[in-house]
Formats: sequence, structure tokens, C-alpha cells
Amino acid sequence: MSHSLPSATFPDGQSVPALGLGTWHMGEDRASAKAEIRALQAGIDCGMTLIDTAEMYAGGGAEEITGEAIKGRRDGLFIVSKMMPSNASHKGTLAACEASLRRLGTDRIDLYLLHWPSRHPLRDTVAAFEELRSAGKIARWGVSNFDTLAMRQLSALPKGKNCAANQVLYNLSTRGIEFDLLPWMAENAMPLMAYSPLDEGRLLRNPDLGKMAGQMGVSPAQLALAFLLGRDNVIAIPKSSSPERVAENRAAADIQLTADQTAELDRLFPPPRSRQPLEMI
Ligand code: NDP
Repeated sequence: MSHSLPSATFPDGQSVPALGLGTWHMGEDRASAKAEIRALQAGIDCGMTLIDTAEMYAGGGAEEITGEAIKGRRDGLFIVSKMMPSNASHKGTLAACEASLRRLGTDRIDLYLLHWPSRHPLRDTVAAFEELRSAGKIARWGVSNFDTLAMRQLSALPKGKNCAANQVLYNLSTRGIEFDLLPWMAENAMPLMAYSPLDEGRLLRNPDLGKMAGQMGVSPAQLALAFLLGRDNVIAIPKSSSPERVAENRAAADIQLTADQTAELDRLFPPPRSRQPLEMI
């Protein structure tokens, strides 16, 4: 029997499921579009109502797939999209958002992120994000691939404290953020979105993870996701273009890791003992 999903909460009180749906590589090939739409809809149907996309993915194609998947069922969904850093000027931000809204077929993005740090002054990007928020085109904004220092600098800018989230690479084999970024996010009551939670599928071929998952009677993907779901205010966004694998990922939320299992994961995938540079894909 499937339990309800754990949730994460944004600083404004909005809560979302801590397990969402990634879309990178969707929309790249028209022949796969139907299957990708079906996979996203299967996820929505089982409660994974947060969808993560970006204007960069398939040159807008992933936003279009998302738009098709959510057509007629926008209510109750939480759509995250990201702007390319090259568009992060004041004017560029406003235009990029309009283009994303059009591709998504919606009038509002729930969380709009700067994909990674930009050469454009961050204060201009923040000012444009705030304008979009006042106009109701986005409900909140955040960043992606920002390390702790970059988060501190953002926070010191006018309205910088309105940042709602930071999306970074986080999975069992990439735990560096646990040393300083994750605690910083917790102190600031900001959810951390964990991208590539399966390390783009590489983790699933890890023999140690495979062995432990086998002993527990779960799949390696489920164990990798259960690790993230056990963390406070972390949102994992695995991508799958298969409804079966989406359902498998959803069932990871039914796993409650014991203290012994958590200790075993720490032995196999040691947490950081010192500050690490932020890793990104
Ligand atoms: P993931 O870690 O989610 O892994 C995706 C891969 O794992 C795909 O090849 C998928 O194949 C496979 N997979 C998924 N579920 C299972 C399963 N149960 N069993 C076996 N294989 C499985 O990688 P992503 O890089 O896609 O990260 C997730 C999302 O994070 C992205 O889609 C994107 O939305 C976001 N992201 C953000 C970045 C950023 O800079 N902000 C950078 C990278 C990702 P299949 O589809 O065939 O099931």
C-alpha cells in the first residue's frame, strides 16, 4: 500500500511533495514525445505533482512536453522552470519568462530559477524576478548551482532574501553539500532541490548499492531516493520517461530507513568531513 509523499515547505509556507519529476532530455526526439508525456502524467497521477523543467532542455522542447502533459490539469501542480544565465539581464529575464510561459501553456510558473550563476549582475536578475512576481507571472523565484558563498552574497542583495530555493547536484555519491550548503539552507528555511538524484543513472550500476538494495528487497533507484527523502526539506526530482520506472520511484517514499540502514549507507557513501567545492553537471 502506497503512503502519501513526504513534503517540503517553501519560506512562504507553500508545501510541495518532496518527490517530483525531472524532464532533462525530454523533448529531444518527437518519436519519444508520447511516452514522455505518459510518464509525466503517470507521475502526476500518483502524487508527484512537482515538475522540474528548463528553457535549456531540448531548446525549449522539454517545456513543451511539460505543457502537453499538464494540459487540462494545471490546478494542483507545481511547475518549476529555469532561465539560462545568458538571459539573466533585466530585459532578458522578462523575455525568457514570457517564452517559457508560452511553451508551458500556462499563465504562471510556481518557481522560476536562474539555472547557474550568470555574468549579468545578480541584482538586475533579482529585480526582474521580483517584477515577474508582482505581475503574477511567477509565484516565487530561486537559483540553481549556487554554493554557500554565492547564497550568502545573494542574500545580502536588495530582496535577495526572497530567494525560495536552490537546486543543486545531490545524491549518494555526491554528498559534499551536506557539510555547509545543506545546513545553510536549513537555517534559512529554504528547501534544497536535489537534481540528478540517481547520478543520471550511474548510481544504479554501483555494486554496493545494488547489494544493499537486494538485501532490503527494494530496487537501487528506490534506495537512492529513500536516502534523499529521509532528509529534511530536500526535494528529489528523478527523471524517467517510463511510467513503470516512475511508479517504482514513487514507491521509494514507502521506505523508512532504519538507523542501521542509514549507518550502512554512510559507510558505503561517506558524508563529507570538510568543505567541498560545489559539484555540478
Ligand atoms: P537522474 O539522476 O534523475 O537519472 C535519470 C536517469 O535514470 C535516466 O537515464 C532514467 O532513464 C534513469 N532512471 C530513472 N528512474 C529509474 C529507475 N527506477 N530504474 C532505472 N533507471 C531509472 O538524472 P537527471 O540528470 O535527469 O536529473 C533529474 C532532473 O534534475 C533532470 O531531469 C532535470 O529536471 C534536473 N537537473 C537539473 C540540473 C541543474 O543544473 N539545475 C542539472 C541536471 C538535472 P529512463 O528515463 O529511461 O527511465
